[in-house]
Amino acid sequence: MRSSLRHLLFILTVILFSTPSPGKQISQQQAALVRSIDEQGQAPVALLERIVNINSGTFNTAGVLEVGKALEHEFQALGFTVQWVPMDTVKRAPSLIAEHKGHRGKRVLLIGHMDTVFEPSSPFQKFVRDGDTAVGPGTGDMKGGIVVILSALKALKSVGALDAATITVFLTGDEESVGDPPEMARKALVAAAKNSDAVLSFEPEISQGGKDYAVTARRGSTFWDLRVQAKSGHSSQIFSSAMGDGAIFELSRILSQFHDTLREPNMTYSVGMALGGSNIKVESSGEASVFGKANIVPGEARASGDIRALYPEQLAHAKEKMQAIVARSLPGTNAEIRFTDDYPPMQPTPGNLALLAKLNEANRALGVPAMEAMDPMSRGAGDASFVAPFADVLDGIGAPGAGFHAPGESVDLSRLPLQSKRAALLVYSLIQ
Ligand SMILES: [Zn+2]
Repeated sequence: MRSSLRHLLFILTVILFSTPSPGKQISQQQAALVRSIDEQGQAPVALLERIVNINSGTFNTAGVLEVGKALEHEFQALGFTVQWVPMDTVKRAPSLIAEHKGHRGKRVLLIGHMDTVFEPSSPFQKFVRDGDTAVGPGTGDMKGGIVVILSALKALKSVGALDAATITVFLTGDEESVGDPPEMARKALVAAAKNSDAVLSFEPEISQGGKDYAVTARRGSTFWDLRVQAKSGHSSQIFSSAMGDGAIFELSRILSQFHDTLREPNMTYSVGMALGGSNIKVESSGEASVFGKANIVPGEARASGDIRALYPEQLAHAKEKMQAIVARSLPGTNAEIRFTDDYPPMQPTPGNLALLAKLNEANRALGVPAMEAMDPMSRGAGDASFVAPFADVLDGIGAPGAGFHAPGESVDLSRLPLQSKRAALLVYSLIQ
């Protein structure tokens, strides 16, 4: 399907699924769920403070594990069985899996991450409360989301709704810097998704202009690395049949054809680095060096960048077109492009939109406005992308806050109960 047509269909489906059908009443058990969350009072905030004060920068694996250990007891108290997935082979902290096995309703997978971008070397370490705002590393992204998960599960337990339910909670310890290779680092998460009907991801909820959004689609990311080899010699001989055009002209041709011919909606591609000359060296840190002289036809050139696409076939098509451009070498040159997939695209499937529709039933029961699907162009990649090819997914239903990934990151505590109620009602509707 053409992507412009798809985009239109996407918008139409959002409108269709986001419009609540009128006249549905809140049941006694739903009302009890809502009450139960109100009765939790400040306990969720106390838990948040406790886990925010444990540093869990992705590379502080001991700290991530300590956060997990603090949460382990919480899940066990709710009747979940906890196991750990070792991640030593990819040099990351283990993932925590908490499972509740039942026989009724949909199999629900709740996902989140225990790590933050704030390593022990960061000056930003502690939870500080100021009225309804709590500032601290990972408050919003996404220890607040973990607290929302636990509040919702406690409420479900308190009304007896958990008994027959099949719910798995999967918390990774390396979302902010996924272990390499990602296929290995996300193997257990993908397996859990394949065993689930619906996945809810508790990355921070985004509000814009007083409206709340959820994520039903996001673009994936793929890196590309382009290397050009050419005959090298004195500049006076360039364009001769013996010398050819040189590596830098060939690199320029390829990049300008990328620039001119690949554009389409819902996809971007960019060049992040380019070098030409001879003796090119590029470190994994991004530092690079090259030797060059004005009177030499250069023998080497290199560039790297990314592609962000919404649909898997869109990505495949872009790769094919780039390969074809690369293959049309100028005289005396030879080029090669390699792709490394980072996050797969999370395309806007009808199943994802149906989950948003269910969330909006919860919103209606709570008497709050319906939420909309966030523009896929405006949200970065996340763990939900890895599971999206295998189950219906809804993301961005965690804690609302501000300034994620920067010192001063905060969470809006006054809105935590609403998020927990939304999550509890949504899970409730899925496990019936
Ligand atoms: Zn996050």
